[in-house]
Amino acid sequence: MKLVFATNNPNKLKEVKAMLTNFEIISLADLNCFDEIPETAKTLEGNAIIKANYITEKFGLDCFADDTGLEVEALNNKPGVYSARYAGKENNAKANMKKLLFELKNNTNRKAQFRTAIALNIQKKQFIFEGICKGIILQEKQGENGFGYDPIFMPTGFEKSFAEMNINEKTNISHRGKAMKQLVTFLNNYTW
Ligand code: IMP
Repeated sequence: MKLVFATNNPNKLKEVKAMLTNFEIISLADLNCFDEIPETAKTLEGNAIIKANYITEKFGLDCFADDTGLEVEALNNKPGVYSARYAGKENNAKANMKKLLFELKNNTNRKAQFRTAIALNIQKKQFIFEGICKGIILQEKQGENGFGYDPIFMPTGFEKSFAEMNINEKTNISHRGKAMKQLVTFLNNYTW
């Protein structure tokens, strides 16, 4: 079964392919689609819907898209939907982490969560899934793996950051992993 995952992020693609082994996952690069899909919504769900609809309308294919944000309690859930562009539109992970650590300087409330929304377009119907991973923002970067804010996020119940985990460890507990598990369960029970 073919399904487009509307992403060009190789890290996400790797995580998702490892979970959806029954499906042939097609990326935007596989479709030769390098369009800048505008992420203009004010919510994660809204952006996931924009991306999934764009691909379904352009290529007439079943598709899912995700959008993730890091919601930091002491910053009123910022950067949230603006996580990629927190320090500027270049989506520079180093600069984003630097800004976040600066904003949280001297703040003892380090609580944060990653939240992923997935929009699935299948057979002209749309379904939304959500996954949350709670944790804290560390005082400084730890680890080299992963991407984005991984080096400064430590999930609850663990003594290491996302960037100190291997991909399977992370996917098992992560926001995207949880949202993906819902998507996988849904797809496996879907009557075609
Ligand atoms: P996206 O819109 O889903 O690509 O996510 C927006 C931004 O959130 C990314 O550019 C990353 O900075 C951050 N992000 C998303 N997922 C993760 C993750 O699993 N770990 C760390 N940062 C992430």
